[in-house]
Amino acid sequence: MTSRNQQLFDLSQKLIPGGVNSPVRAFRSVGGTPIFFKKGLGSRLWDADGKEYIDYINSWGPMILGHAHPEVVAAVQQAAANSLSFGAPTGLELEMAELINQLVPSMEQVRLVSSGTEATMSAIRVARGYTKRNKIIKFEGCYHGHADALLVKAGSGLLTFGEPSSAGVPAEVAAHTLTLDYNNVQMLQDTFSSIGDEIACVILEPVVGNMNLIVPQQEFLQTLRSLCTQHGTVLIFDEVMTGFRVALGGAQALYGITPDMTTLGKVIGGGLPVGAFGGRKDIMSVLAPLGAVYQAGTLSGNPVAVSAGLTTLKLVQAPGFYEKLTAQTSKLMDGLKAAAQNSGIAFNAQSVGGMFGLYFSHNIPASYAEMLQTDKTAFNSFFHSMLDSGIYLGPSAFEAGFVSAAHTDADIAATVAAAEKAFAALQA
Ligand code: PLP
Repeated sequence: MTSRNQQLFDLSQKLIPGGVNSPVRAFRSVGGTPIFFKKGLGSRLWDADGKEYIDYINSWGPMILGHAHPEVVAAVQQAAANSLSFGAPTGLELEMAELINQLVPSMEQVRLVSSGTEATMSAIRVARGYTKRNKIIKFEGCYHGHADALLVKAGSGLLTFGEPSSAGVPAEVAAHTLTLDYNNVQMLQDTFSSIGDEIACVILEPVVGNMNLIVPQQEFLQTLRSLCTQHGTVLIFDEVMTGFRVALGGAQALYGITPDMTTLGKVIGGGLPVGAFGGRKDIMSVLAPLGAVYQAGTLSGNPVAVSAGLTTLKLVQAPGFYEKLTAQTSKLMDGLKAAAQNSGIAFNAQSVGGMFGLYFSHNIPASYAEMLQTDKTAFNSFFHSMLDSGIYLGPSAFEAGFVSAAHTDADIAATVAAAEKAFAALQA
C-alpha cells in the first residue's frame, strides 16, 4: 500500500514545484521521499504515517527549546488574541530590541524583518549606503539566504568578480560580489591589499553551517577584523544560524570578535518568521526614515512572531542553558565517533554549542574544497539507515545538524544505537 507520505508527495509535486517550498526539503541530495510531518513535541516528530522520529534538524535551527514548548505556545496564543498584526509599532518590538542589544551588545541599533534572507539583504544595502561602495566579499560555501547579490560563486581567478550561482540573477549584479575561500588568510590579505578601499562589506557565517559545519580559525577572524577596520569596510557577521545557537551572545561572544553589523534569524523567532539586522549606531543611522537607505516590511516586527521569539530568548537565558546544550551535543558527537570507530568507518564529528557536523572522512574539513572530499555516498546510506531507525538528520551531507534543550540522554543513547546499526550496514 502506498504510504500517506508518498501520496502527499505525489500530490504536492503536481501543485508545488518539486513538491516542496524550499529545495533541500526535497531529498534530492540523498534520494527517496521527503517526510511530511504532522506533529512535533520536544525532541520528537511524527510523520503523516504516524512514525516517530528524534529530530536533529529542529526546523534548521529555530527550535532550540524543542517543538511546541508550552511557554512559547502560550505566548503565541496570548499575542494572537490581541490581533495578529498592526503594521504599527508595539512595545513587544522594543522589548525585543532591548533584549537583542543586551545579549549582543555590538547591535547598538536593530531593525526587525521576517526572514534571514531579508536581514542579510538589508544589511548589505546598509553597508553599501554607508560606505558609498558597491563591491562586497563573501566566502565559498557560506549561505546567506537567496538575495541576488549573494547567490554568487567565484569567477575564474582571484580578484575576478563573481558569476551567478542561480539562473535569474543578472551577471551585472553578481559582478559586484567577490567570493573567497573560508579560513584562507593569505587570500584575504592579497584581496584587501589590492582592492580593500573599494569593498563595502565582508559577510560571513562566523561558524559555517551551510556546508556541513566548518569552524573558523581564530587568525582568520582576527585578520578579517583588522583588515576591515583598516580599510573602512563593514564587517557583517551573519549569525542567522549561530545567533543564540552556539552561545548566548552568538559566535562573536564565543570568539571574541566584534563585527560592525550582525544579522539574526531562526532562534530569535522561536519557529515563527523573525529576522533582524543591526550594528553600530552610526551605520544603522543611514536607514530610512533617518537616512537615505530604504528598507521596509508590512509584517516586520509582527506581534505574534515576536512573542514566540521573545519567550524563546527569555528561556535560553536560564543559568547553564548553553553549558548543558553544548555538553549534550558533545555527548552525541562522542557517541557517534565511538560507534564509527568500532565499525572501522572513516568518520569524524564536531560541534559548537548546539550545532554539529558529521563527516565521512578521517579529517575534519576547514574549507568548502575540503568538504567536497568527504564521502557523500557513505553519508547518504547512513542517512537512510538512520531515517529507517527513526532518526531525522538533515537530508544532505552539506548541512549542519541541531540539538535542542529537549534532547534527553535517552534520545542520545537511542541515536547512538541507531548509528551503530547504520555504520555496521555501511561496512557490510
Ligand atoms: N543566513 C544563514 C547563515 C542561514 O543559515 C540562512 C538560512 O538557512 C539564511 C541566512 C537565510 O535565512 P532564511 O531562510 O530565514 O531566509
